[in-house]
Amino acid sequence: DAITREGEELVATHCAFCGMQCGMNIRFKPDTKEVLGVEPRYDFPMNGGRLCPKGVSAYRQVEHEERLLYPMIRRNGKLERATWDEALDLVASKMREIQLQHGKDAFGIYSGSSMTNEKCYVMGKFARIGLGTKNIDYNGRYCMAAAATGFKQSLGMDRGSTNPWSDIKFADVLLIAGSNTAECHPLSMPYVWGARDRGAKLIVVDPRETKTALVADLHLDLRPGTDIALVNGIIHVMIRDNLVDHAFIEAHTNGYEALKETVAEFTPYHAEMITGVDQRKIEQAAHMFGKAREGMVMFARGIEQHATGSDNVSNYVNLSLLTGKIGRKGSGVATFTGQGNGQGGREHGQKADQLPGYRVITDPAARAHVAKVWGVDESEIPGPGISAYEMLKSLGQDIKGLLLICSNPLVSAPSIGDIEERMRSLDFFVCIDMFLSESAELADVVLPSTVWVEDNGTTTNIEGRVIRIKGIDRTPGESKRDWEIIGEIAKRLGRGQYFDYGSPEDIFNELREASRGGVADYYGITYDKIDRMDGVFWPCPSLEHEGTPRLFEDLKFKFPDGKAKLHGFTHTGPNEKVDKDYPFILTTGRVVYHYLSGNQTRRIEALRKLCPDPYIEIHPNTAAQLHIKNGEFLKISSRRGYITVPAKITKIIRPDSLFVPYHWGKQLGINRLTNPALDPKSKIPEFKVCAVQIEKAGEE
Ligand code: SF4
Repeated sequence: DAITREGEELVATHCAFCGMQCGMNIRFKPDTKEVLGVEPRYDFPMNGGRLCPKGVSAYRQVEHEERLLYPMIRRNGKLERATWDEALDLVASKMREIQLQHGKDAFGIYSGSSMTNEKCYVMGKFARIGLGTKNIDYNGRYCMAAAATGFKQSLGMDRGSTNPWSDIKFADVLLIAGSNTAECHPLSMPYVWGARDRGAKLIVVDPRETKTALVADLHLDLRPGTDIALVNGIIHVMIRDNLVDHAFIEAHTNGYEALKETVAEFTPYHAEMITGVDQRKIEQAAHMFGKAREGMVMFARGIEQHATGSDNVSNYVNLSLLTGKIGRKGSGVATFTGQGNGQGGREHGQKADQLPGYRVITDPAARAHVAKVWGVDESEIPGPGISAYEMLKSLGQDIKGLLLICSNPLVSAPSIGDIEERMRSLDFFVCIDMFLSESAELADVVLPSTVWVEDNGTTTNIEGRVIRIKGIDRTPGESKRDWEIIGEIAKRLGRGQYFDYGSPEDIFNELREASRGGVADYYGITYDKIDRMDGVFWPCPSLEHEGTPRLFEDLKFKFPDGKAKLHGFTHTGPNEKVDKDYPFILTTGRVVYHYLSGNQTRRIEALRKLCPDPYIEIHPNTAAQLHIKNGEFLKISSRRGYITVPAKITKIIRPDSLFVPYHWGKQLGINRLTNPALDPKSKIPEFKVCAVQIEKAGEE
């Protein structure tokens, strides 16, 4: 049990810095509400008394001197302190003015997934019936969109993991693709070790020899952008060597013959030619995965952030379906959600094409249900709108005004040089944030919000487990909670009656009704039940229901005939290919010390010291050819821009590839270079591959 020291109180909550949502206690002074520290919770099953470097440092942003403490309005080019009434009146009048002049959809909302479920729900509702715009989307479009679409096209529904994390240790083989789990979800590694202790084999697919790949039994170091060819090669061997489960395929899937035909040409030799992975390793992977009794396939942005991201996901899911490894302890598929509430953020209606409960916005029955809960006519619900990157591309053109909340696209979007220009061309831009992010710096009005330690509500973790976030009752300076700010704006727009909530629990109870009968059914989940059960897994359709930790135990998939779909995909490769002008493949990713755009973690001294600036990983052979020394500054350029960072010479990267972490903005933002080509199905951009050239800085 946690020990309470004299003069301190504890609040039991969860870390907000990745989808693991580890349990932690925040220490604070009861009289001043000053936050003093943090300790891991031993009672929460996900982390069982552990926290990673981000988790132990996260509380330090709460008392940070750069917190936004009062509203600001841009006057004569400068952001100046204003009262709440001045700021909110201006926001509402600009919204009305722009919508009157250019139509309702000319005001867009760009939201985020690091907020509680309650706030995500309010944002979707506010867009549709507060502002009346169809144009709302969120930063999860850069993160979870391909996984969501891939799961839907293969399994008929999307929950980030078919299994609770406690199932991982029962796997006999784990195939982890495009996830540097050890750095990005460090507290998933004890689950991997649990499986290894029982003799499980670990296969890691990654262009880099990451800390996760280093401990693998088999590392498939593919050329970035060649996942489909690699998986096709593995499937080819599985079919050739009779490692697939024909009884399962016959009873529970459709599409096998077409898939078999597609992979016929992907002999291990052919797959090696495309992927650069030794064909013997491809054979080994097929046998290791195919022969194991239980196995899990897990992946992340490394396979998802591609112009073929959804199909990459479905092809990895094919491995589970072909071998019948799903619906049991130790068998299933999962994506590692990066954002704190990456799972919940995509369920409650803040996606351009979606209503609460994971309902499709064009479905008449879904519209009727949600309209009834909201107390409006279904004709009042606009949509679908355009996706996050498409919205940024429309700024200053079709979209004249923007409300940005809980996101920092000037770090996290692709091709940010172009996006910055578009943001500057807006007629009006309002931003709600806790710090003055790179994006907030451009706003006409900045509204200060609370941080996660001051929040109450729920989030949904990496497993699909809905948990309680319990905050300290404090609002530093004049900051307000996001849902209260939105309520105030709605009031000024004459729509306050739809947002008149007394507490997050009020919002949650409405969300439960709105989700009732949907795919992500939260109806049976209550705050009390979450407390009693250490979280409740959705779907949970009734108050008596205990939730659903493991999906598809009955092997009934979410298609009318109950069968999962096997899809065959041909290799097309990345949208942008290397050539003589841009001869290297650039791939991007995260480091253990920073969270998303770094707006929070770059301000925490302990984390900043450990990783203050970006760098470029370059293979020793490449460095030798170009006479580059370790630490030397390099100019990296793509067709969209350039940045200058020091070289880190390391064997962990392939000789044909380069890696730069993406947590910085302005002149250090690697997303100045990345390719905004979108996956047509999910609209996720291709962050993971673009063509670049490098030269010593100052030599151009
Ligand atoms: Fe846990 Fe993720 Fe927080 Fe680390 S960042 S403590 S793994 S929730």
